[in-house]
Amino acid sequence: MALSRFAQGPATAAQPESQALLGELQVCDPPGDPLEALLERNRGFSRAWQAMSRESDPVKRLKLKTEFFYGGCQINPQALNEGQRPWAALLSCADARVAPEFVFASGSGELFQVRCAGNTAFDDAVASMEYAVSVLKVPLIVVLGHSNCGAVKAAMGSDPLTPLLEGLVKPIRASLVSGDSLSQAVQGNARYAAGLLPARSAVLKQAQASGALTIRSAYFDLATGLVTVN
Ligand SMILES: [Zn+2]
Repeated sequence: MALSRFAQGPATAAQPESQALLGELQVCDPPGDPLEALLERNRGFSRAWQAMSRESDPVKRLKLKTEFFYGGCQINPQALNEGQRPWAALLSCADARVAPEFVFASGSGELFQVRCAGNTAFDDAVASMEYAVSVLKVPLIVVLGHSNCGAVKAAMGSDPLTPLLEGLVKPIRASLVSGDSLSQAVQGNARYAAGLLPARSAVLKQAQASGALTIRSAYFDLATGLVTVN
């Protein structure tokens, strides 16, 4: 499989076709620091988001969105059929308004993602990030909370929840600080999950210690479309 070739890393990928494929898969990689690249792309998204919010005509909103999102790079789908080499990973909320491809103006194959309500570091999320870092060589994980997060709201409240939802909000409740506003709680929850990733995974901890991996938490404001690192 193509992925098993990448597991060895580019330095040991002997076949020329592997190097050629790797080049194709990395054609949209931003130069420089991946965190700065995410934030720069988000600033562009934010400008489009705010322009769309001022436009009442849905067709014109779509035009604004299309002009913005289709101005970027796109990896050849034939290469994506053979493998993936994402340059950043997101642990983000399942919320329908928080799709990382939109928020960070990225195409297929660029962002590895785990999404669940409340962006918590549950078992399979940590395992997925281990895969992203150890096999796909992803250098950056961002845990992305967002304004008006329903999962964090549920964790702060006392409404009865199903047993599975109780399990989902349990790690969010562990991150809560008394007196916090919702936005403070969202940011605290993202920081908490970002801290849990290396705490729960020797693979992630080692990658972070070696400098091969950066883990950060961030906050997406739905009103402005802007992401801030916290
Ligand atoms: Zn949410």
